[in-house]
Amino acid sequence: MSVTAQSITAKTVVAGVAGAPVRHSLSPVMHNAWLKQAEVDGVYVAFAPHQDRFKAFAEGLRGGAIRGLNVTIPFKEQALAVADDASVLAKAAGAANLLLFHEDGRIEARNTDGEGLLQAIAIQAPGFDILAGPVTVMGAGGAARGAVAALLEAGVEDIRLCNRTFDRAEKLVEDLAGPPAGSLVRAFDRPDHAVDGAACVINATSLGLNGGPGPDTPWRLMRPEAVAMDMVYKPLDTEWLQSARAHGLRTVDGLEMLIRQAIPSYRAFFGADPPKFDVRSLLLQAGAAG
Ligand code: NAP
Repeated sequence: MSVTAQSITAKTVVAGVAGAPVRHSLSPVMHNAWLKQAEVDGVYVAFAPHQDRFKAFAEGLRGGAIRGLNVTIPFKEQALAVADDASVLAKAAGAANLLLFHEDGRIEARNTDGEGLLQAIAIQAPGFDILAGPVTVMGAGGAARGAVAALLEAGVEDIRLCNRTFDRAEKLVEDLAGPPAGSLVRAFDRPDHAVDGAACVINATSLGLNGGPGPDTPWRLMRPEAVAMDMVYKPLDTEWLQSARAHGLRTVDGLEMLIRQAIPSYRAFFGADPPKFDVRSLLLQAGAAG
């Protein structure tokens, strides 16, 4: 059964995404396409709580008024703060992109962004080993935090953070309160130092969003077989990715990460994997890359 306004009943499972703004979010298109394809009696909607009212909004959902929420800018840190339990990755990232409202009143926080990032790299750069060498993360915001947590969990031993505001990169390193034994996370203020000999570079800044150059990246200093991953997906083929390819690097786009972080969210909301379906083409048609 596909859900239309007419087919929604008292049994329809409700999940959604909360952000401010949220109108640009592709998550409703993606989740509702999966629900329709799988004939699940569920619906996924977008919420735009007031910037200062997220806590009250989430508290009001305790007890399972809705099944769960994805959380996007600017609420990811607040989502972690409102939760009673949090996954290791959400705690390590200091941010959550997924909240589950249990019937006993508990709110559980998870972070699936890092899983999405690693899967996108595995899919679009097949054969690349994320443990092959140093990984440089450009940026030190919420997305960079999620990336660092996932890279540490995957066992990457040398992580370099490079951010316009150096103090913010240093703070991220400090907040890790000592990475696992054998791993080193360092803050850099110069991109040439940060990417020297790196096997992978990830753009976790918002530079390049809606066009324009990404962060300054001296490609020639990287390993010849290196991979560049851009979290920005609008446009899909960013100037930064084009520049990486022109220097012989393999590239991974942000749309694949968006899709891959959504899969564990769907599973958590609706109790099964999403159906096999070309959701990437659908998102491109829906204007993901425009
Ligand atoms: P955020 O917390 O606001 O952080 C923004 C980052 O970009 C900071 O490091 C900031 O540096 C940097 N930045 C912004 N403007 C800059 C400029 N003009 N020059 C240099 N650096 C600049 O945002 P976020 O949540 O981390 O998101 C970052 C990007 O990742 C966004 O484009 C977002 O859409 C994308 N993202 C994609 C996915 C996906 O699934 N593909 C998931 C999560 C996020 P300062 O600290 O110096 O301000």
